[in-house]
Parts: sequence; C-alpha cells; structure tokens
Amino acid sequence: MSTTFSDHRRPRNIRLGVLGIQGAVLEHERSLRKSLKELGMKGDVKRVRYEEEIEGLDGLVIPGGESSTISRILGQKKIREKIISRAEEGMHIMGTCAGAILLAKEGGTAVDGSDTQLLELMDIEVERNAFGRQRRSFESYVDTNIAKRFPGVFIRAPMIVNCWGKCTPLGRLEEVIIAAEQDNLLALVFHPELTSDLRIHTYFVQNIIKKYKK
Ligand code: GLN
Repeated sequence: MSTTFSDHRRPRNIRLGVLGIQGAVLEHERSLRKSLKELGMKGDVKRVRYEEEIEGLDGLVIPGGESSTISRILGQKKIREKIISRAEEGMHIMGTCAGAILLAKEGGTAVDGSDTQLLELMDIEVERNAFGRQRRSFESYVDTNIAKRFPGVFIRAPMIVNCWGKCTPLGRLEEVIIAAEQDNLLALVFHPELTSDLRIHTYFVQNIIKKYKK
C-alpha cells in the first residue's frame, strides 16, 4: 500500500479535509484545527465537496447526517470512487455516525426502507437507527481504546453489529460496538465533534503524523 507522503523526511503541512455535504462540518473543522495546534503541527483543514479536492488529502472526515442522502450526493458527484481509491492508497478516513455507516461493507438499508450506497471499505456491518425510538438521541460516557470516559453524543446512531477480518472493535456500550478501526479507517457511531473533548480527533491526526514520520 502506498502512502500519501513523499519520501522527504522534512515536515510539511498535513492536509485534512471534512466532507461538506451534511452534518456538523464546522465543528469537525474546529476540532481538527485545535488538535493540530495541540500537537504543535502545521496543517490545512479544508471543506471538501468535489472529486478533485480529495486528491491531495492525507486525512478526510465524513461527518454525520443522513447517510442515504450523503451517499446519493457522493454518487452524483463522482466523489464516491475518488474516496474509495484514495482510501485504498492509504488516505486516513474518520467517519462519524452516518460517516461510519458509509464506511461499512454491510447494512445500508434502514428499517424505514431508505437505502444507503455504502463505500464498502471496512469489514463491519452496521444497523442504522438501531438504538430505537426510546433512545433516539442520548449522551453517555463511553470507554474506548482511544479514550476512557469519552462523552459520547448519540443522534439516531447506528450500531456496529458485526466486525470481522482486518477490523478491530475499539469500544462498546452495553455490549454494542460503537467504535472500530481498520488500518487507516476509523468508524465511530457517536459524534466527538459535538463535545469539547479533543482526544478522538487528536488520535486521528496523530495517526496521520506517525505515518508521515516513518
Ligand atoms: N440515522 C442516520 C443514518 O442512518 C445517521 C444519524 C447521524 O449521522 N447522526 O444515516
């Protein structure tokens, strides 16, 4: 697998993008900028909407929203194929909530019949809107391998109901997998961008930096 970084050891700005179709785009941008600052790294954080903007990125965040809508727009704009090929080349992706759904290989259809065309990148199966009506939206501290007692914000969240192959579960809430990782891909069913806790964004950025220092 090739890396996004050139062979030069000299540090350069890392290039991060947030998919600007739906969701808490601004909040993700803020958290990424703050994480870069905390890590003492220079970097650009851009909102991306078009195929050509994906090209030079080292990392991409796919925010929450309605995964069926996001997937439809991704398909129309041909960004879909670009994200898939860049991910296969090693571009890091963090998908939150609907973003996590999109990363999955299985589970696109919701009980209401709405269909999401998945990117099919991660060895996970999701169940959309799986926490049910009673718990449509809630907050709960969650323990993950990245951060303990992380303030998890769940909004019509999916569950990761199956995780196989190269994928590792990173955290559970009452037995349900809520975070998973596979090489350069990170899926979270909650919204770290809606809290001031930067630990998950910082982890994402740090992984990109690590690769580049190799
Ligand atoms: N329920 C949404 C879906 O299935 C995800 C919700 C969210 O991203 N907050 O796409």
